[in-house]
Amino acid sequence: MKGFVIMEKKVPFLDLRVTDSDERSELLEAVAGVFDHGRMIMGPEMGELERRIAERTGRRYAVAAGSGTDALFMALSAAEIGPGDEVITTSLSWIATANAVAVAGAKPVFADINDDLNIDPESVRSLITDRTKAILPVHYTGKMCRMDELTAIAQENGLLLIEDAAQAFDAKYGGRIAGSFGDLACFSMNAMKVFAACGEAGIIVTDREDLRDRLEALRYNGTVNREECIEPSLNCRMDTLQAAILLKRLERVDGLIRRRRENARFYNERLSGFVDCPVEDEGCYDVYYTYTIRAQKRDQLKEYLEAKGIETKIQHPILMPQQPAYRGKTAARFENARKLVERILCIPSSEKLSREGLEYTADHIRKFYGGAA
Ligand SMILES: *Cc1c(COP(=O)(O)O)cnc(C)c1O
Repeated sequence: MKGFVIMEKKVPFLDLRVTDSDERSELLEAVAGVFDHGRMIMGPEMGELERRIAERTGRRYAVAAGSGTDALFMALSAAEIGPGDEVITTSLSWIATANAVAVAGAKPVFADINDDLNIDPESVRSLITDRTKAILPVHYTGKMCRMDELTAIAQENGLLLIEDAAQAFDAKYGGRIAGSFGDLACFSMNAMKVFAACGEAGIIVTDREDLRDRLEALRYNGTVNREECIEPSLNCRMDTLQAAILLKRLERVDGLIRRRRENARFYNERLSGFVDCPVEDEGCYDVYYTYTIRAQKRDQLKEYLEAKGIETKIQHPILMPQQPAYRGKTAARFENARKLVERILCIPSSEKLSREGLEYTADHIRKFYGGAA
């Protein structure tokens, strides 16, 4: 109906309210625990979270951070990546990936992507120079990059491999979990991620003790004890409250990912033939941080769904090398990314979505392309 104003989204993209009463009381209890001991920063819950994440990713060490961006910045700095160095990353990611490289003092170099929206290993190979120090792949949408090829390229060329696993908590490639491949791997647990705090949070994992020590110094102004600063850094600490919340949510994360995967399977069945759906490769376990379709007439589809009360997002409409901050300033190769960025659309798929919401969304996408609902 033209001119009809939808007052509230029928199908919201995300709903960050804590509505489940069991979860709500668990989280309130966790918060009360921190109120009781009063160690608001670097409290015991943070150490426990670090142990649990290290164990889960099969790593020796985990270092908690204030955000995923902090985690990336700390990881790059700990690996002594700085002025004069180049870091090859993808063209399509949240800008935090490139910013962490630039703020560490190095130059981000942008590689092209494949149709799965992940970095193209061949493009990475073509961008290696004498100054290349690291490869920083992003497991975009919760699907892991081709880690066997990227690991081989890093080894052949003596490069560090740092995973941006911000969107890929618990994703797997060849049976191996995200965060277990690189010299360092970074996660974000901000409120929107699949494994989410009630605010900002991040974490880095590694097997190297020297890197762990540097990360711990970098986390708090480059200090190694109360007074001594060994290198300039910023304050990148995680709140104990967020760690306490994350510990509780860690117990629920498997079920939540299962529901996201079920939603993806439902959409795959209903939408194939109408749009290009994400494909899970053999041996992979995708966690669907976003369910991102590639659609013809994408902008019209988005508008049509919006009018039906279905909220969608384009993550992200501006490729990193095309951002004003980076345009023309560094090497980049992104022909395929340029085409794909015009077609990507993230449709509602969170674990909180009802069956009706899923069906309503799928039906309207089919209708838009002239199919029966
Ligand atoms: C969310 C995200 C980040 C940044 O994490 P924050 O916790 O928001 O700072 C970095 N890289 C990618 C790919 C992300 O999705």
